[in-house]
Parts: sequence; structure tokens; C-alpha cells
Amino acid sequence: MQVLVIGAGVVGLAVARAAARARHDVTVAEMTGGIANGVSSRNSEVIHAGLYYPTDTLRAHHCVRGRRMLYDFCVSHGVPHRKCGKLVVATNPAELAKVETIFARARANGVEGTEMIGGNAARAMEGELFCVGALWSPETGIIDSHSYMRALWGELGDRGGMIAFQTPVERMSYRAPHWHVQFGGRESGAFDFDAVVNSAGLGAQALARRIEGYPTAQVPRLVLSKGNYFSYAGRPVFSRLIYPTPTDGGLGVHVTLDMAGRMRFGPDVEWVSEENYAVDPRRAEGFYARIRTYWPGLADGALVPDYSGIRPKLRGPGEGQADFMIAGPGDHHMPRLVSLFGIESPGLTASLSLADEVVAKLV
Ligand SMILES: Cc1cc2nc3c(=O)[nH]c(=O)nc-3n(C[C@H](O)[C@H](O)[C@H](O)COP(=O)(O)OP(=O)(O)OC[C@H]3O[C@@H](n4cnc5c(N)ncnc54)[C@H](O)[C@@H]3O)c2cc1C
Repeated sequence: MQVLVIGAGVVGLAVARAAARARHDVTVAEMTGGIANGVSSRNSEVIHAGLYYPTDTLRAHHCVRGRRMLYDFCVSHGVPHRKCGKLVVATNPAELAKVETIFARARANGVEGTEMIGGNAARAMEGELFCVGALWSPETGIIDSHSYMRALWGELGDRGGMIAFQTPVERMSYRAPHWHVQFGGRESGAFDFDAVVNSAGLGAQALARRIEGYPTAQVPRLVLSKGNYFSYAGRPVFSRLIYPTPTDGGLGVHVTLDMAGRMRFGPDVEWVSEENYAVDPRRAEGFYARIRTYWPGLADGALVPDYSGIRPKLRGPGEGQADFMIAGPGDHHMPRLVSLFGIESPGLTASLSLADEVVAKLV
């Protein structure tokens, strides 16, 4: 089939690669001038183990399966990564009960190697840490996500696929047996495809509304949840990822590490009404308070505003976790079209597994 994938983020690239491996003729349309200019360049670059998501959800399934696939991909394609492990820490008895719930869920989700450890054992691993107990997850890691996305793009090219940059998809309609797609941008025009994947991230809902005949009741609400990061100005004190107990809408202000070992903190949760990536330095106050619950040694003035990302959520504050939404022909009754909505965390980890499901739904 001639397959059009809309969006060159990590999910679109993984889908395009999977479609090319399935011998389809693949074109990716990306409205910006490069790959990974959306949500995919503004995240924690953590390979999640699959601890948190309710069992039997798409997030749980694709996180666990996608994580195994991603480690294999990193090894076979030389993508820099490190399985450094992570501690989910409890700083009081109430949090300990929450961490134990996460432990039970992790086991139900089939996550390998997790164990509950005491405060002393956790401090033996990370000397600066304060906690009364922790969940140890050895399968969690970090990845150079840009190398990963370049590797996906490279394999797509090797298999004959291509990316058209500065090519926004403006409208689409189904004219049997083809999808008729109108492009804007530098080389605007209309082309026909056999199958289409809407992996437009924050733009997925707007795009779905421009598909002629797409049932509007099937287009979910888009809720923007900004996550701000602060970098740490001193020498790193942790060598593993440290997460507090999760908060409503996020995993809590955690310690993330990049491949160079630098430490940063975030993301927090800021509900916003429009895209805006400026980091307000005043948010540091909340960061200091939260981080010092598990790292009392954090010095004043050590946090520097860094970057932010926006989670494409399907639910707002207090409404609980939504699942990924992979809408195929069985949902919207339009042939050979798959729309992805709400691909927030762990979308990077889950990308290779999500891609298999999307490609299977195209036939
Ligand atoms: C703060 C934060 C932290 C996160 N941390 C992690 C983490 O540690 N681990 C993890 O696994 N996941 C994490 N995630 C989730 C992960 O980053 C996302 O799930 C993933 O990047 C989504 O990729 P995507 O390809 O769906 O979207 P995007 O990367 O946004 O790609 C969509 C692309 O579509 C393009 N586009 C939009 N509309 C159109 C159109 N009409 N025509 C053509 N192109 C269009 C956009 O320009 C964009 O390039 C995090 C997310 C956030 C926000």
C-alpha cells in the first residue's frame, strides 16, 4: 500500500519504519522543518519499565512490550542508552503505602526484577537520599532519544520511505478506493494514498476534525498539561533515577539523568490552555520544597530553569488517568485510517510496540 504517516515525532517515525518493514511504500508528512520538533524533543528520555499504568490498559501493555523492543533496538542499532534503574521513594508511611501499591501493579503488569527495599538499603545505593522505603526497578533506563529517532529515520530511508518536511496536511477525504490528501506548505498540492496514520501529537485532534466525515463524537478532548524542568548547576549526586510518589497528572518532580550523567529535575504539572514553552523561574520554589523531601542536601540557588514539554492529555485535573487511544476502522468506520490520541508518557518507550499495532490495523 501507499501509506501516509502524518507527523515525524517518535511515534510517527516508529510507525513509518514498521510500515516500511511490512513492505508498504511509506511517506511521512511533517509540518516543521525536521524530525522530533514536537512533544518528542521535550521529555525526560526515560525508558519506563511499566510500573504505574493500570493493568490491561494499552499504556501498560505497550510500555512493557515496547521497553523490551526498545532495548533490543538500541543494542542492534547502536543507540546510546543506559539501564541505570530507578528508585520510587517514600518519605513517610502514607507514601510507603502508595509505593507498595505501585509495586503490586508493576508485578501485575509483568515488569521484571522489581522489589521493595528499606530506607537503609536505598541509602546504600544512593548516599544523599532520604526515604523510609523504596521500590527498586532495575529495568528502567535512559536513552539518547534523538539518536533513536535518527536511527528510525535511517532505517525508513534504507527501506525506500521518505519524509516530506514543511508539509502540513490540511484536509483529507476518502474517495474510494483512496484517501485524497491536501497538503499545504512549500509544495502544496493533493495526492492519493491507500492508508493514512494520524500521529500528529498535539495536532491530532485538529487534524481529525479536518477529515471529511470523521465522526466528531470520536474526537476526544485535548487537555494540555505542561511539564517544566530545572537543571542542576552542581556535580551530579545520583547515578540512578529517583522518583517521588506520583501526583495527579504526572509522576512527580523526579531526578532524571542524561547520557552525560547530568542531573535535572522535573517535570511538574501545570495545566495550560495554549502551547507556551517558557519556564517561569518562580516555579523553582515548589521544586525546592518537593525535592528536599527526598534530597535534603539540595542547596539554595542550585536549580536553573531549563525547558518544558506539553503532555497531550485526554483528561483534566482530578479526572484520573486516560489510556492511549488508537482509533482504527473498527472505531470510526473509515477504511485504512488510524488516528492516535493522547500519546503522552510513556509514548517514547512504547513507540515500537504501538507501531506494530497501528500497522496491523491498516489492512
Ligand atoms: C514533559 C514530558 C515528559 C515525558 N517523558 C517521557 C519519558 O521519560 N519516557 C517516555 O517514554 N515518554 C515520555 N513522554 C511522552 C513522549 O514524549 C510522547 O509520548 C511522544 O514524544 C509522542 O510522540 P508523537 O510522535 O506522538 O508526537 P510529536 O513528537 O509531537 O510528533 C507529532 C508531529 O506531528 C507534526 N504535525 C502536527 N500536525 C501536523 C499536520 N497537520 N501535518 C503534518 N505534521 C503535523 C508535529 O509538527 C510533530 O512533529 C513525555 C512527555 C512529556 C510532555
